[in-house]
Amino acid sequence: MKIKFLGTAHGVPLKDRFCSSTMLEFENCYYLVDAGAPAVDLILRDGKDINDLRAVFTTHAHLDHTVGLIHLTNLMSWYYIESSADFYLTNDMQKASYESVISAGGQRNFVYPERLRFHVTDPEAPYEDENIKLDYFKNGHMNNSYSILVTDKTTGKRVLFSGDFSGMLALSDVPKILSEQEIDVFVCEMAHFGVKELEPYLDTCKAKSVYFTHVFPLDKYDGIEALKDKYAFEIHSPSDGDIIEF
Ligand SMILES: [Zn+2]
Ligand SMILES: [Zn+2]
Repeated sequence: MKIKFLGTAHGVPLKDRFCSSTMLEFENCYYLVDAGAPAVDLILRDGKDINDLRAVFTTHAHLDHTVGLIHLTNLMSWYYIESSADFYLTNDMQKASYESVISAGGQRNFVYPERLRFHVTDPEAPYEDENIKLDYFKNGHMNNSYSILVTDKTTGKRVLFSGDFSGMLALSDVPKILSEQEIDVFVCEMAHFGVKELEPYLDTCKAKSVYFTHVFPLDKYDGIEALKDKYAFEIHSPSDGDIIEF
């Protein structure tokens, strides 16, 4: 699996970081997990064909994880008319809002439900196609918020996206799979709790590597750096544009 970090900022963009978005690249198509960054701009700058976008999965409704979908789906509606993709939002209100904000642009800005397929995520019936399979773990950040595990069906490699967790991890909502199974990559937010609150979960973490994004306040990067001496697994804090393959 090839992953490109499109946006690694916390809830507010920085001078060198967009908000949360990650691209998963496969031979015949690509996917996004969250779209808080200007997704369509970054896809085009990357030289990708909009028609090769297969699906977008969101961890929760906050705009720092979703706002890029508006421009992306708007352009897919009237300009990239050969494009077709699935968009998984996490509640009915956001699905309806996105559909209406696109339609509000007038006659040419219309949601074509056969091409632009907006869904409300059903964690009991997760997405699966020939490349990937998803598993959702409900977390306590807000109503209908999830951590998402993506499995590459060809290689069996797995990446877990934390989404956003509860404040100070008070709801103990780090998915248990992290301590129970050896997943390849854990992409973990670092804005709603301190390094100290996360350490008990890292102590039992079986992931081969952990990538910290969505970091706030920024001096927490020093705390992340210090973790590198403590744990056997790899620890990284990626920048926008960084690519990993595993
Ligand atoms: Zn967030
Ligand atoms: Zn959030």
